[in-house]
Amino acid sequence: MQLSDVKIYEYDAVVVGAGLAGLAAAKELAEAGKRVAVVTKLHPLRSHSGAAQGGINAALSADDSTELHEFDTVKGSDYLGDQDAIEFMCSKAPETIRWAERMGAVFSRNEEGKIAVRPFGGQSKPRACYAADRTGLTLLQTIYEQAFRAGIEVFDEWYCADVLYEDGKAKGVAAFNIRTSEPAIFNAKVTMFATGGYGRAYKINSNAHANTGDALSIFARRGLPLEDMEFVQFHPSGLGGSGVLISEAARGEGGRLFNSEGERFMEKYAPNAMELASRDVVSRAIMEEIRQGRGVGPNKDAVYIDLTHLPKETILTKLPELRDLAITFLGQDMLKEPIMIAATAHYSMGGIPVNKRTQVRRAPTEFVEGLYAAGECSCVSVHGANRLGANSVLEALFFGRVSGESMVEDLDKLELIPATKDDAKNMIEQVNWTKTNNGDERVPKLRAELQESMTMDAGVFRTEESLLKQRDKLTEIYNRYKNIRIDDKSTVFNTDLQEAIELKHMIDFSLFIVEGAIARKESRGAHYREDYTKRDDENFLKHTYAKFNGEYSLDIEYGDVVLGKFEPTERKY
Ligand SMILES: Cc1cc2nc3c(=O)[nH]c(=O)nc-3n(C[C@H](O)[C@H](O)[C@H](O)COP(=O)(O)OP(=O)(O)OC[C@H]3O[C@@H](n4cnc5c(N)ncnc54)[C@H](O)[C@@H]3O)c2cc1C
Repeated sequence: MQLSDVKIYEYDAVVVGAGLAGLAAAKELAEAGKRVAVVTKLHPLRSHSGAAQGGINAALSADDSTELHEFDTVKGSDYLGDQDAIEFMCSKAPETIRWAERMGAVFSRNEEGKIAVRPFGGQSKPRACYAADRTGLTLLQTIYEQAFRAGIEVFDEWYCADVLYEDGKAKGVAAFNIRTSEPAIFNAKVTMFATGGYGRAYKINSNAHANTGDALSIFARRGLPLEDMEFVQFHPSGLGGSGVLISEAARGEGGRLFNSEGERFMEKYAPNAMELASRDVVSRAIMEEIRQGRGVGPNKDAVYIDLTHLPKETILTKLPELRDLAITFLGQDMLKEPIMIAATAHYSMGGIPVNKRTQVRRAPTEFVEGLYAAGECSCVSVHGANRLGANSVLEALFFGRVSGESMVEDLDKLELIPATKDDAKNMIEQVNWTKTNNGDERVPKLRAELQESMTMDAGVFRTEESLLKQRDKLTEIYNRYKNIRIDDKSTVFNTDLQEAIELKHMIDFSLFIVEGAIARKESRGAHYREDYTKRDDENFLKHTYAKFNGEYSLDIEYGDVVLGKFEPTERKY
């Protein structure tokens, strides 16, 4: 890849990522008459948003209220969520559903013809709106069509490798075409990232292959902070062995959990909410049963979810995809028998720190001019220490739209900072190094070691000992990476190259997960320390902000949580 080949594109706005958050932002920009380029490593319709099965929350029922939705979200977050952002999102959730519906999203209906809602974990009322168990796909198709109609320009199968950031200002991104290796700069007045989650850092996970958290490491390597990275959500129901997701809808519709002794064990862990306690609580209960030797399956590393008592119609109409997945991956038919599940890495609560307008923070109270982020790669923070099911599609869609509106508002006040070919230097050096480095380490092997060790030592259960061990392991992998070699030297669809770059990103941001977890000597939400089992509001009711301070070490500081009308109390289900 040569510097002289770099092409410079100029736009009003560049959006990286074409899931729900990126497309919602791009649509707003295009409708306001702005020229917007959407850069995405996948075709938009292959974004992970399309895999969302269960639903999107909004208080629509007569006996529900947006205030109750707020309360459930704050409680679910173990009081680490920022209450101003939570209020903003929950109060606008019903309007967001109507907005999606007017665009053409077809939601499932109840007998009265109104949008149907199903119960989800940690929610006091049924409020997950859904389109059977294909909610994300329905929404993604709809918004893609509308964004396209509004005139967005999509650069799909383009890999964004760098953000052009200097002196507190951003002016676009550097990217290359995966099909041809053609390098380019996208120079714009405003730049937005919506690159999704980072679940692929774990061996057992529910995420798409593309969820490698690229933007997090790109930002971190530019000296920008990441927030609350230690909070990784483990979903209770990944299919045994693979971690492929069986949506919470399975428990929402009435699924029951059993161990090898036929005991409905949630009675011990959450006697009131049972299977519908929040995700962190149910995941730990499942993993504890397995640790105590009461697991099922050939390796005793799963438990059963039983839906056989439900009417056949319920499964066939409300959970058809889930049934297919269990038949395909396990050969188990949920109509006839219980199926095997275990906790799976699912969602990233932490990410790029932003405010309610989605502007990126360079310090707890300072912002980068012209830079925005929304969706799962960002931390706004509406999920705090633990996200409630069906709140994340809502977040992506809602804050994606807010981001588009913020950019439209700010654009006219900003001058384009011109870019030159030299701005692609970082990317070109990285690509050329990766292709020509001639060591003896292999990317798939290093990746497997990273994923296995993260699952073992920075997973559902953590201790000082396991985390320090994992920090050493990461440092070892970081150093071994310097000695990699890839076989494919070609310029056409070089997936060897892309996977090597993605592995480097995973090595970089995993350090933030582990260091954040070492420093947080308490248990809160998804972060469970066996050596500090209580929540400690006196010392840790605060957000973690971590930054690189050298080659592979971090500085950590803390920032205030925005409290509000809901006082922190002990969380019980
Ligand atoms: C199996 C599954 C089921 C889920 N079910 C639900 C549910 O029922 N309800 C709910 O609320 N939440 C659910 N979630 C979570 C929710 O779907 C996601 O958090 C949300 O859709 C994320 O949207 P996003 O727009 O932020 O990112 P994504 O949809 O993940 O999109 C990321 C985009 O970034 C692009 N990208 C990434 N890196 C680069 C790069 N380097 N260069 C260029 N492009 C890049 C990708 O091409 C993609 O277009 C589920 C998640 C999973 C994994």
